[in-house]
Parts: sequence; C-alpha cells; structure tokens
Amino acid sequence: MLAVSPRRSAAHRGRRGDAPQEGATRTVPMRHLVEKEDPQMTRSRRKFLGTAVATGAGAATLGFPHIARAQQKFNWRMTSAYPKGAPFYMDGPGSATDLARRIEAMSGGRLRITVYGAGELIPALEGFDAVRSGTVEMNHANSYFWTGKTFAAQYFTAVPFGLNFQGMNGWLYDGGGIALWHEVYAPFGMVAFPCGNTGVQMTGWFKKEIKSVEDFKGLKMRIPGLAGKVYASLGVDVKLLPGGEIFPALERGVIDAAEFVGPYQDRRLGLQKAAKYYYTTGWHETATVSELLVSKAAWEKLPKDLQAVVENACAACNVVSEAWCQRTNAEAMEDLIKNQGVIARPLPDDVVKKLRETTGQVLAEAIAKDPVTKKVHESYMAFTAKYRAWAGYSETVYHDKILA
Ligand code: CA
Repeated sequence: MLAVSPRRSAAHRGRRGDAPQEGATRTVPMRHLVEKEDPQMTRSRRKFLGTAVATGAGAATLGFPHIARAQQKFNWRMTSAYPKGAPFYMDGPGSATDLARRIEAMSGGRLRITVYGAGELIPALEGFDAVRSGTVEMNHANSYFWTGKTFAAQYFTAVPFGLNFQGMNGWLYDGGGIALWHEVYAPFGMVAFPCGNTGVQMTGWFKKEIKSVEDFKGLKMRIPGLAGKVYASLGVDVKLLPGGEIFPALERGVIDAAEFVGPYQDRRLGLQKAAKYYYTTGWHETATVSELLVSKAAWEKLPKDLQAVVENACAACNVVSEAWCQRTNAEAMEDLIKNQGVIARPLPDDVVKKLRETTGQVLAEAIAKDPVTKKVHESYMAFTAKYRAWAGYSETVYHDKILA
C-alpha cells in the first residue's frame, strides 16, 4: 500500500463514490500504482517517499497495510424504490435508512451512505440502471421490479405459493439462493443481498365477496408482477398503480380490488374505508424480500471487513424488519376487525386451487423461455419441496396444534 496525495487520489478515483474525506490522505493498492506508470504517478511516488522519510507515517503504512486500509473512508449513495418516510422501506427498524445507519456505526464511520427516497435523485424504479451504470453504488428495493431485465429476479423476492420467511431464509442463506442471486446479476455487474422481509402479505381488498373463480371475470384489480399475470389468466383486468393511487382508485370504483402489503401498511393507505372484504394469507407474496443492490465494481473496492459489515447489517435488517412487521400487523389487524368492520377470511379452497394451477402454468412458460430462470427455479423448487416435507413435521404442526 502507498499513501498518495489528495490531488492524485482525485485523479485516480474517477467518480465520486469512493471519494475520500476532503483533505484526507487516501491509500490505494500498490498494484494500481504499478499498473499505471505515468509521470503524475512518478511524482506521486516521489512525494510519498519524501513524506514517508519526513514523518515516518509512510513506513508504518508499508509495514502494516491493514492500518492504511482502516483509514480509508467511503461515501456512497443509496437510492430507493420507495418514497422518503415510507414505513418499513424507508423508515423504521430494518429500513433503508436504518441499514445505512447500522453500516456507518459498525464501520466506525468508514462507510457512510446517503439514502435517497424515490424521486429525490432518480425515479422510483430506475435503481437497477442507476447501479448498473455506476450513477449510485447501492439501491434498496425488491428484485421483482427487475423481471423485465431478467425474469429470474422474481425468485429472490417472492414466488406465488412459495416459501415463507423461515423457508426463504433457509434457501437464501443456506440453500445456495444468495450465490444464485449473484450469478444472475453477474452479467449486469452487480451483487445483491436480502435486507428486509415483510413476512406473508395479504391477498388484498375486494369490494365484493369472492365465492368462485367466476367472480374474477372482468374484476378490475390493482396487482403488480407475476401474480398479476396469474390473475389476468383467470379473467381479471389487471391495473398497475403506485401505492399512493390505490385508495382513490378503489374508493371511486376505478378498481374493484387491490393488494398492497399487509394490515399495517394497507390501513395506512385507508383501503379499509373503500372495501370491506380483506382476503388473508397472501398466496402471491408469501414472504417478500427487500433487496440491497450493490455495484460490483464498487463492492470490490471495499476492504473485506467493510464487505462483512454490509453483509451483516443486511442480515440484521432482514430480521428486525420482519419482527417489526409481526408486531405492527398484529396490532393493525386487531383494529381492522374490532373497530373498522373489516371482514377477513381466506379465499375459498377451489379458488386457491385454481390460482395454484395457473401459477404453475405461468412459471412453466417462463422457465421454458430462459435457462437462467430454469436454473433458479429448479433450485428454489427443490428447496421448497424439502422445506414442505420438514414443515409438515414442524411449522405446520406448530400452527395447527401448538399455536392454535
Ligand atoms: Ca404486495
């Protein structure tokens, strides 16, 4: 390692992301200097050697590379698909701002991240392109927003009739899921980590009772993504609306039904005032994962200890965000039922059966078109089969017999 002047480091870094603190001495790996034999570098080396002799600091740097690394500071930017102040995503335990705060605290201030809500720096759903192009180092969202780039991204957020929070964590952390996630994003020059989870969502709000699959015909429903394709196959007129537009559309009858997240978030939008049938346990999003997307070029500039800080802060946010959802949803659901006249029930069994079959058909079409999706699908489904069998002896019995 060599210490170089701020002037040299400004020329070297090329972009703002890894900019050192103003006036600070930045260190860069020796190989970078050796690879770039230019006159400025030679001046820089002479300057370094002079400084080293004068202060002795350079010698310490050479003898103890980890000390020089420990001095290196990074100021990064993180955009989000959700607006500033949005509960769970931008505000509260395990949110984007909490993740940035944890990373700064765990790194002793060496990795500082400025968080921008949707629309502050870039529009809501341009995070993938912003990280890919190096405009920002990180984006906080859900990978299923990027299915237009690579359909396999769907599996790292939620698959209809898929894994719950425990199962998803099992696949991601211990079943090869994160490694596959990195493999899928490698052609785009990015890595990603799970950094939050809503737990199971709700099927959503309907103005009229759903008694059979026939009731889906011509129903106008707000629902994004893969589940929207499944509903569309069953005759639903699928509408894509951002969160803020759901309530007025449902209230005015522009739509007849809508899904958003779960009791706490849905109540905040006021959906209970526009529709009374609240269909429970979301078949479409059984545990929705938040994604921290990171530029691979930026990631590789981080020392190993800061990479570990990011990974561990993400894992912490994954747990605490889901914990927050358990408490807030429990409280909100009780209020919706007791005080706001909401009728909560699961969809009829034959409707669920039809949704399951249709999901299978939609996924089969997707994997037939794309070998990357097929590979991720097979890993996910193999893990799901194992989890289902084990849950039959554990979680399922717990919910039916112990918790009941
Ligand atoms: Ca949702």
